[in-house]
Amino acid sequence: MNIHEYQAKELLAKYGIGIPAGHAALTVEEAVEGAKKLPGPLYVVKAQIHAGGRGKGKFKELGPDAKGGVRLAKSIEEVEASAKEMLGNTLVTIQTGDEGKQVNRLYVTDGVDIAQEYYLSMLVDRATGRVAMIVSTEGGMDIEEVAHSTPEKITTITIDPAQGFMPHHGRAAAFALELTGDLGKQCQKLTKQLYTAFMDLDCEMLEINPLVETDDGQLLVLDTKMSFDGNALFRHKDVEALRDVTEEDPAEVEASEYDLAYIKLDGNIGCMVNGAGLAMATMDIIKLNGAFPANFLDVGGGATTEKVTAAFKIILKDPAVEGILVNIFGGIMKCDVIANGIVQAAKDVNLSVPLVVRLEGTNVQQGKDILENSGLPIVSADDLGDAARKIVAEVKKAA
Ligand code: GDP
Ligand code: MG
Repeated sequence: MNIHEYQAKELLAKYGIGIPAGHAALTVEEAVEGAKKLPGPLYVVKAQIHAGGRGKGKFKELGPDAKGGVRLAKSIEEVEASAKEMLGNTLVTIQTGDEGKQVNRLYVTDGVDIAQEYYLSMLVDRATGRVAMIVSTEGGMDIEEVAHSTPEKITTITIDPAQGFMPHHGRAAAFALELTGDLGKQCQKLTKQLYTAFMDLDCEMLEINPLVETDDGQLLVLDTKMSFDGNALFRHKDVEALRDVTEEDPAEVEASEYDLAYIKLDGNIGCMVNGAGLAMATMDIIKLNGAFPANFLDVGGGATTEKVTAAFKIILKDPAVEGILVNIFGGIMKCDVIANGIVQAAKDVNLSVPLVVRLEGTNVQQGKDILENSGLPIVSADDLGDAARKIVAEVKKAA
């Protein structure tokens, strides 16, 4: 789960981490009120969307010469003018895709005089089973680009969670960022505070880009992105409450209500599968047969008729879907129960695209009979390869 920059900064502030003062705003009036509470004379008006690259982003409605989604303002009037231009308009950045994201919230912050920009992030490194702290002197830039063209400017420091954050981790970060004296001390303190926040809050990723050194020698978090481990959210109700579903794909939100693991993809073949491994294999074999999956969808082990119906509806809401492949292994669930669910769901949603079903497992013959006798144009398949070939052929035939 992702949250907005202002929310992440409010969480970090609780750990004593230095952030510029700021106020979130849903309206132009709130933006002006927020700015009035700040010392000035420099303000920053920042679009709050779940995507980075806002500074260099462009508003669809404003033309190529208009400023982006992070704007410096030298007066309350300039804050007001920027807020008017940004709210309600669509910001396109390298991370939003061409469709962009509508800006519904702003964050008005105290403008900082920047001496130097740095990069710092922490994430769960599955390869080492530890926390990787990544730092670079190349702050404010696209880190993927830095990693590609100047990898030597990126330093990774690995922290063993069993041991915890040790002073040498902080010193290594300060050394890599070439921060000495008081700034070096600030860096050591900050990295420790960030690690504590990262662990306490069950973060998946915490990125600070840029971390800045101000003209008067302070290290401040100027921009931050935070995401959380969904499986740990149950123990962080306060974090869960920060979820902004308007930033998420509506189909993925609906799927999460039914406890379905759904991710939208770019292809035209909808997939309904039980088990993540089987879902991946199904996607692979669709590709092998020359087509592309429209989604990843794992209905889980105990898929009920209700869940299957919800899954069908979610798949069919995607206008790109031209056919559906159901690939279910009846282990805990019996194939006849699943077949009944599929027939019921297909009737409920008035299925209008070809449907290929491959069942395997307990009571498979009864399951196939139910599909066969349903009166619906369901194509039955024997194995994974057969199923993929059939759905690709059906979609071609229908086109
Ligand atoms: P992003 O474009 O979505 O990553 O948004 P950021 O919050 O990182 O802002 C983009 C850039 O705007 C930063 O790298 C800074 O160069 C600049 N910026 C943001 N806040 C300030 C500020 O308070 N003062 C100054 N001088 N520049 C800022
Ligand atoms: Mg940034």
